[in-house]
Amino acid sequence: MAVYCDVCGRDTGLSRYKIMGNKYICTRCYVRCGSNRMITLDQAKNIIAKIDYNLSLISTFKTAKKVGNFLEVDQENRKWMIYPDGNREHAFLYNYEDLVDFELLENGTSVAKGGLGRAVVGGLLLGGVGAIVGGVTGAKKSQNICNSMIIKVTVQDLSNPAINVQLIAGGIKTNSMLYQQATNMAQEALSVFQVICRDVEQRRQSQPVEVSQPSAANEILKYKQLLDMGAITPEEYEAKKKQLLGL
Ligand SMILES: [Zn+2]
Repeated sequence: MAVYCDVCGRDTGLSRYKIMGNKYICTRCYVRCGSNRMITLDQAKNIIAKIDYNLSLISTFKTAKKVGNFLEVDQENRKWMIYPDGNREHAFLYNYEDLVDFELLENGTSVAKGGLGRAVVGGLLLGGVGAIVGGVTGAKKSQNICNSMIIKVTVQDLSNPAINVQLIAGGIKTNSMLYQQATNMAQEALSVFQVICRDVEQRRQSQPVEVSQPSAANEILKYKQLLDMGAITPEEYEAKKKQLLGL
């Protein structure tokens, strides 16, 4: 007797997973939910609706530049996406304007940072790859092991304001190929963020201020679409609407 997935309705075939509430989901849905059995059917449906919504946005994304396996830029539509876990399905998708600032942390210490309306501090970005390598190793002469290298990006997103991409986790020698690769990748990512910030600044200077302000009505419309797609709950929608209307 066939058992159908309670989320997508497909025949679960030979392997299925029991989640909470005696519900069964197929292998594909199980994996898409993060291989987690301790979720309810509603939660599973929610997670998958969000992923599908994300995929629909990503489908129109035109990648002009890719850094490592975590960052992509669409210059034509002025969008960028970031997926710290290496899975594009989980990407956070943003407009250029959503980027606030970015920072490179090595062993918990800031080695370079920049952002909107701000010059890059640390001077590491100015001279290309050589400069950042020189800067990083110069500041850390006594240290031969890198325990962590993290790119931290701050965005205008209340539900997820900071995104960390871990390029190095665990002790890696600073004279190793892996360290060099991570450093190059960090340099590339920071350069991309810097270009995005410059682009936004230039546009702001050449446009009237009110153009960049999203209207409450437009914002509400966006959330209404999310609601209709099932990506957010009616309660979340109502709360957002009240907030946007200043009620
Ligand atoms: Zn399924």
